[in-house]
Amino acid sequence: MVNLLIIGAGTAGLTAAIYGTRAGMSVKVIESNIYGGQVVTAPKIDNYPGMPGISGADFILSLYNQAKDFGAEILFETPLSASLKGDVKRIITSKGEHEAQSVIIATGTKPRKLGVPGEEKFIGRGIAFCATCEGAFFRDKDVAIIGGGNVAIGDALLLSGLCRTVTIIHRSSDFRAEEIPLNLVKTKDNVRILTDTTVLSFKGTQALEQIEIENTKTGAQDTLSASGVFLAIGAEPNNSIFASEVNLDKTGYVIAAEDCVTNVPGVFTAGDARTKKVRQLVTSAADGAIAALTAKEYLDSI
Ligand code: NAP
Repeated sequence: MVNLLIIGAGTAGLTAAIYGTRAGMSVKVIESNIYGGQVVTAPKIDNYPGMPGISGADFILSLYNQAKDFGAEILFETPLSASLKGDVKRIITSKGEHEAQSVIIATGTKPRKLGVPGEEKFIGRGIAFCATCEGAFFRDKDVAIIGGGNVAIGDALLLSGLCRTVTIIHRSSDFRAEEIPLNLVKTKDNVRILTDTTVLSFKGTQALEQIEIENTKTGAQDTLSASGVFLAIGAEPNNSIFASEVNLDKTGYVIAAEDCVTNVPGVFTAGDARTKKVRQLVTSAADGAIAALTAKEYLDSI
């Protein structure tokens, strides 16, 4: 049994591991994927204080090493079920069972899908979620990006240097993306922006060939040729295994305020998995510190 079990080795979970070990707790981190969470694929981070321009991979490797150097045990196993309400918290994983006095849920989010015809068929055959990882497969090809947030615009900037043309398809008139990257993308000759436009379906034979779209203002429908599509329409939480254990909101985020305290004693949450307004690296790191130090207070009190 460890003092603190952290589910998720992204920015929030690894920061919690650093603070937890430094506070004198035995700390185990369980990660179902590779460590790092969503930031690992970011080519460049420009808004983490004091580290302008660092790549996501370098940032997270440094965080991972820091957590390990302070003594956190980081295991790569898939959490399958959780029993969190008692004094001893239990997580069953693909490789066994773990017990802890306290738990931090730092499970982050997974990419959202559109849910239109053809999407499932062409995932991996033209439809992708990560421009950094898979953009090079579409060198000199025509691609589209769906979405209007920071990820979509960052992807468009990256792909404009690799692909022949990049079409951004965004359902609204206004963008959620920050102004600086948005203005930069508008200067790229090979980037076209379609606003007020939704995807009706994806078409092709063996691989993706076409996207059927509709203008939501005029109702006009059109077909675009594209061999690649990057879905950048936000993310959804990964908290289904905790649904019977802690209070989640209707979209699946763990309900907790800035103190990262859930409704279950000894269970905390940090980062994108939590109900919060601003989901950024710096707020994930802040949550990790708060959740770990609050877990220490809890342990001292029992
Ligand atoms: P996001 O900011 O939530 O944007 C998602 C975009 O997808 C929105 O434009 C939204 O359109 C669209 N969308 C959502 N559901 C859709 C659907 N079913 N069909 C079509 N379009 C849909 O997500 P994100 O870009 O993945 O970013 C996630 C978080 O990470 C944000 O807080 C973002 O600021 C942060 N981030 C920051 C940076 C940075 O600071 N450099 C870089 C990357 C990410 P509507 O606008 O119409 O709702």
